[in-house]
Amino acid sequence: MSAVKISIIGAGSAIFSLRLVGDLCKTKGLSGSLVSLMDIDEKRLNAVHELAKRYAAELGADIKFEKTTNMKRSLEDADFVINTALVGGHEQQEAIRRVGEKHGYYRGIDSQEFNMVSDYYTLTNYNQLKYFLDVARNMEKLCPNAWLLQAANPVFEGTTLISRQTNIKVVGFCHGHYGVNRIAETIGLPLEEVDWQVAGFNHNIWLTRFIYKGKDAYPHIDRWIEDKAKEWKPTTPFDDQMSPAAIDMYRFYGKFPVGDTVRNGSWKYHYDLETKKKWFGEPWGGADSEVGWAWYQEELQKATKKTFSLAADKSVRLSKEFPPNKMSGEQHVGFMDALINDNRGRFVDNIPNEGEIIPGIPEDVVVEVPVIVDKKGIHPEKIDPPISERIMKMYLLPRRLRMEWALDAFITGDKRILHEMLVRDPRTRSFEQVEAVVDEILSLPFNREMKEHYGGKK
Ligand code: NAD
Repeated sequence: MSAVKISIIGAGSAIFSLRLVGDLCKTKGLSGSLVSLMDIDEKRLNAVHELAKRYAAELGADIKFEKTTNMKRSLEDADFVINTALVGGHEQQEAIRRVGEKHGYYRGIDSQEFNMVSDYYTLTNYNQLKYFLDVARNMEKLCPNAWLLQAANPVFEGTTLISRQTNIKVVGFCHGHYGVNRIAETIGLPLEEVDWQVAGFNHNIWLTRFIYKGKDAYPHIDRWIEDKAKEWKPTTPFDDQMSPAAIDMYRFYGKFPVGDTVRNGSWKYHYDLETKKKWFGEPWGGADSEVGWAWYQEELQKATKKTFSLAADKSVRLSKEFPPNKMSGEQHVGFMDALINDNRGRFVDNIPNEGEIIPGIPEDVVVEVPVIVDKKGIHPEKIDPPISERIMKMYLLPRRLRMEWALDAFITGDKRILHEMLVRDPRTRSFEQVEAVVDEILSLPFNREMKEHYGGKK
């Protein structure tokens, strides 16, 4: 049993925090640990703190909690830091999107080829990336040996930035790879008997290995496409793993896209709502259409409301709301348990491509790959068979370039990089349009610091 201190930054994200708390309570090896909940929104923080304490007490777990609005206090002597904060929240992202749409950029300027996820901003996310670095730089002073588990987006850009600019051990987490479960379940294969690998970047991963009983299992997918794909209908906007978009990407790239990768194809699937409906199904047109995203925002608001009402009503048994006998499916707690207690596990993590885990990608770019974690550290699997040339040339390399451009813009403050990214955007009709949209976004009140940063060079 090893007690540790875990700091959760942005802990007011209730569902996420309670999932972690639940997993911690069920992990004997981490008994006695202290969880430091940190958020700038006191109302959310108080509610999550109250629920976390009550839930742990109901489960009879020996986990202590503290709450603070002070990031540095939370980081002091932490062993693990989980960053899930969204600076400015969804409201500010919507404000930025509205300006983009006003200037002719459907779904906003951050919706870019190979990255259409509606809360994964890369061009206008100065405040968020700055906060990522603030957390990591404060960790260098206050808990230099701690691990940073990066959950907030953009995971690909953020983990690459932190690993390049600080000495902190950073690992990115995402649950997108669970798309493999969905594929296996849909085509009727028991996942535990399937030998699978995924590889790529965060939100850009591909099913590179798929073997059942010693044989290639892709023909099972082909049969499902042949016999059943026509009957497919989404149950929610996020139910896209077996959508026409995924099948079309599979046909072009030769391997199945997994998880959020399906949301991140080229413009072919995203020109407008009608196009999105064709590829991601009716009535939403996928999670990232105006209809699908409105559905998601409503769900988030309902969840926040529910958090407040559960926190206020002490008579509610939380173990009814959050099943006590099941792990949440998030990887964070299992990862910590593996590192601390040598409870070996397989995870899909975002780590620097050191040792060329994916050949052809520089070692200082973060890749998302299966890894084995134990007390000695993180051991990436050999990606076998390797990623195909088609995926490398048509998908991963252009996606990587967009990451590099976004980080160059953020680091140098050279507005012309943002301009040039938009010049390369199929929605752009003139350079005046480009200048106007960037200037108006920089003039939003919450972007004052970003405007100053980008003011140096014209
Ligand atoms: P949210 O706005 O509901 O919650 C984020 C929390 O961050 C809020 O409680 C907010 O008060 C807090 N926050 C804002 N600024 C802060 C600051 N300066 N310091 C501390 N806390 C601060 O957002 P959400 O929908 O929960 O999403 C959070 C992040 O997680 C987003 O970046 C989202 O894209 C990402 N996400 C990641 C995954 C994954 O698997 N990696 C899955 C879902 C969402």
